[in-house]
Amino acid sequence: MKTGQNNIMVVVRTRPLNQRELTKSDYETLKILDNRVVVLLDPGYEMNQDDVLRKNRNKEMQFAFDFAFDKETDQVEVYKNSAQLLIKGIFDGYNATVFAYGATGAGKTYTMIGTSESIGIMERSMDDLFQEYQQLSLTKDIIVRVSYIEIYNEQIKDLLTARDKNLDLREDPSQGVVVNGITEIEVKNTHEILHLLKIGNKHRTIESTGANEVSSRSHAVLQVQLQIKDKASGIQSEIQYSKLSLVDLAGSERAANTQNRGIRLIEGAKINQSLLVLGNCIQALSEAAEKGVKHPFIQYRGSKLTRLLKDSLGGNCRTVMIANVSPFINSFEDTYNTLNYANRAK
Ligand code: ADP
Ligand code: MG
Repeated sequence: MKTGQNNIMVVVRTRPLNQRELTKSDYETLKILDNRVVVLLDPGYEMNQDDVLRKNRNKEMQFAFDFAFDKETDQVEVYKNSAQLLIKGIFDGYNATVFAYGATGAGKTYTMIGTSESIGIMERSMDDLFQEYQQLSLTKDIIVRVSYIEIYNEQIKDLLTARDKNLDLREDPSQGVVVNGITEIEVKNTHEILHLLKIGNKHRTIESTGANEVSSRSHAVLQVQLQIKDKASGIQSEIQYSKLSLVDLAGSERAANTQNRGIRLIEGAKINQSLLVLGNCIQALSEAAEKGVKHPFIQYRGSKLTRLLKDSLGGNCRTVMIANVSPFINSFEDTYNTLNYANRAK
């Protein structure tokens, strides 16, 4: 995989302005250079004639990433330069994780799930995974199991059943982190996984907030577990466990941006807390890799999300973070925050 010292790859994807936005303003706050550099233009800079105000602002800010995809970049291109790089490794026993991070409306679900005309990373990853599966099946016994959960308000919910039970996490010596009582379904092809994804998406908690008509305030985690055994070596042989986690994170916008009160406000705090912990973990892993620290202490305990992904981040794992941003003038603050978050993860 194309990374520096460590196994964490950070890419940014900007979406095009939509019709509704274009009726308000066609100004775009983002420019992409050389598929790597994101230039963020501060719309407030030109507006502030006041020297004092201007002094504290930058006209433009630049950030460099492993990849930066502009608004014209299609789903294939994004997939090829992100999740696809992880697929082979999963069959060699490496755990891998792909996150979509960003504010509500920035393009996370489009990137991960996509639309029926333009499928996203989940389906493309599954297609490649089963191609690899078929090739290796000649010499290996491979079991593929799928689970799909939602983390909402620090509670883990099984999306493959309609039951509304909060599930616990535990650690298994061979399988790593396990969700107690989770539905795990064995699948033989992409088609079966997609069917499960559809069921799961129907069960996702979706409600309206002031920030957006329908917004996702939960993390959705699709996990594909592999158990691989050499056919030739008989019952004695060791089973190799690995997993791929594909995560559509909750919107990263601040609770303060909406008219949220009471339960919504608490929710906002919990989302922000878990995204903060995730950011801290990834930053710490990244720094440790750069310095060559073999067994860094990483604080996974601060949120359910990081506890769940404890064995899927850092170390022998491969991680891709896709930061989704919008070039819309009113999204400037969210875009700025997302770029800073992604920048810390590098
Ligand atoms: P999020 O999941 O981050 O809240 P969505 O993925 O739902 O955001 O995207 C918001 C809207 O923008 C959707 O209508 C989606 O189809 C559209 N969209 C997002 N990214 C792109 C893109 N790269 N190209 C075209 N349309 C996009
Ligand atoms: Mg979404």
